[in-house]
Amino acid sequence: MQETVQYLTEVVSARKPHQVITANPIMVMAALENPAYKQMMQQAELIVPDGSGVVWASRVGGDPVAERVAGYDLLHELMKRGERYRWKVYLLGASPEVVQETAKRLREQYPGTEIVGYRDGYFGLEQDDEIIAEIRRTSPDLLFVARGADNQEPWIAKYKHRLAVPVMMGVGGSFDVISG
Ligand code: UDP
Repeated sequence: MQETVQYLTEVVSARKPHQVITANPIMVMAALENPAYKQMMQQAELIVPDGSGVVWASRVGGDPVAERVAGYDLLHELMKRGERYRWKVYLLGASPEVVQETAKRLREQYPGTEIVGYRDGYFGLEQDDEIIAEIRRTSPDLLFVARGADNQEPWIAKYKHRLAVPVMMGVGGSFDVISG
């Protein structure tokens, strides 16, 4: 976890767009079954192991990783690190009520990290351009996308060069948990 946060701190200062995938066993299995999903994962700039099953598999596979880096925990570690560097964050996903409450709670918990914008995750292809423009306008350092693993990772992969946010990460159901 500490190595990941340190690496992503350097990524933010270099302003080099990174798609971060927190790979859980469901995503690894999806990659084995779906070549397009696998290719998308392989093109991510950073994959971290989300779950003890993935850590175990890395040992069995002969390329061990040190520990689990869960998306929810990484989100909080980055919010904490952001206070020191005055990072800007955009939240995309979940229902309008959930994302609004998530923004409120994260602002209370990490006042030094600025939430520069948020919006819900229920939109279609025809709204992608407008949403990308809005995210670019706010020029965040971190973009958290909570739209379910089937949607969020392919969406980030499709648009990562246009979004050009240093750290872009799918966070699944994290906003639901944070908002209570
Ligand atoms: N979500 C969304 N748009 C969608 C589908 C889901 O914003 O089109 C949100 C949903 O509200 C929840 C999060 O994505 O906050 C995770 O959804 P879910 O638990 O269904 O995903 P999974 O378990 O597949 O990661």
